[in-house]
Amino acid sequence: MPRPIKALIHLDALRHNLARAQDALGGSSKLWAVVKANAYGHGIEPAVAAFEAADGLALLDLDEAVLARDAGWNKPILLLEGPFESSDLEVARQYKLTPVIHHLEQLQMLEHGPKADPLNVYVKLDTGMTRLGFGSGDHVQALQRIERLQSSGRVAAVTLMTHFACADRADALEDPLRQFVAMSSGVSGQGIATWCLSNSAACLMHAKRIEDLARAHGRSLWSRPGICLYGGSPLNDLTAAQLGLAPAMTLSSELISVKEVAAGQGIGYGHTFVTDRPMRVGVVACGYADGYPRHAPTGTPVSVAGRLTRILGRVSMDMIMVDLSDMTDVGVGTKVVLWGEQGPTADEVAKAAGTISYELLSGVTARVPREVG
Ligand SMILES: *Cc1c(COP(=O)(O)O)cnc(C)c1O
Repeated sequence: MPRPIKALIHLDALRHNLARAQDALGGSSKLWAVVKANAYGHGIEPAVAAFEAADGLALLDLDEAVLARDAGWNKPILLLEGPFESSDLEVARQYKLTPVIHHLEQLQMLEHGPKADPLNVYVKLDTGMTRLGFGSGDHVQALQRIERLQSSGRVAAVTLMTHFACADRADALEDPLRQFVAMSSGVSGQGIATWCLSNSAACLMHAKRIEDLARAHGRSLWSRPGICLYGGSPLNDLTAAQLGLAPAMTLSSELISVKEVAAGQGIGYGHTFVTDRPMRVGVVACGYADGYPRHAPTGTPVSVAGRLTRILGRVSMDMIMVDLSDMTDVGVGTKVVLWGEQGPTADEVAKAAGTISYELLSGVTARVPREVG
């Protein structure tokens, strides 16, 4: 028998969360479902099936784009990091992908490309994230060159995008929005009818503000939510449940050993936890080589037979130990939920481990079988 660990992917939850995101946007924006990193660990194929009602898929790996096309996705696909080299633009043409252009070398790749079969492109502006995108030093040149590419027929539709550094804060959007508007008005902008701004946090918190701004400038909108589609909360002070989101992945396994332990006994590597009384301790077939965070400390929530308890001691490569002290009716083979339905949320486990659910979900490793349910 294979190890009992598996990641169950809930298509109905993915569909529900997509509807919830669309609801938050209130019809004001089209929606790219962000499926980078193997759909945040959920698998490209399940995502293609569940996100049928999205307007496009956003990702950054050409292999994943090809997988999505092979799985039957025929709506737009956005390449969030654009081409890494010229030949990527050929693949983009072949598979009808929309590249993001965020630096001058990528513009050059477009300028050397064929005139036939123009690509739709996104032009990314850096409004304070200080990651990808044209900044105040080069955005005018970039937008002028893009307009030339458009009039020479090498480029078709152009959308302007930016990515917010602090969309989860109520007061941190006005500066980047002001910068975005200022930068985008540096050129005629005639051929640029669309803006693409919001990640999950902005979709859930700032949809109205962004809709109003786009309308005032006569632009239509696309948004790019990711984590909320998978049931993770992008906001610090609201849980996924409070946001109406459902967990789309349940990472589960089983107890593979149970033992009674005397008081004063160290548990696991380094003895970071020592029993202060006799305890019942279970061993779960799940470790950091499955993507469970090694930094999750004693006390991190886990559920055994549907009841919440805690992990004990250090996470090892293939196993973790759990506290079964109040559970007399569990034994080898009892179901354990690391996160998901009938367990703690991935957000809760992430918080205990000092990280975010994005890292946990996308970090489930290849050796964990995915099942779609
Ligand atoms: C990952 C990503 C998103 C989605 O972000 P979430 O916080 O998961 O909603 C949107 N836009 C870009 C450019 C991204 O890299």
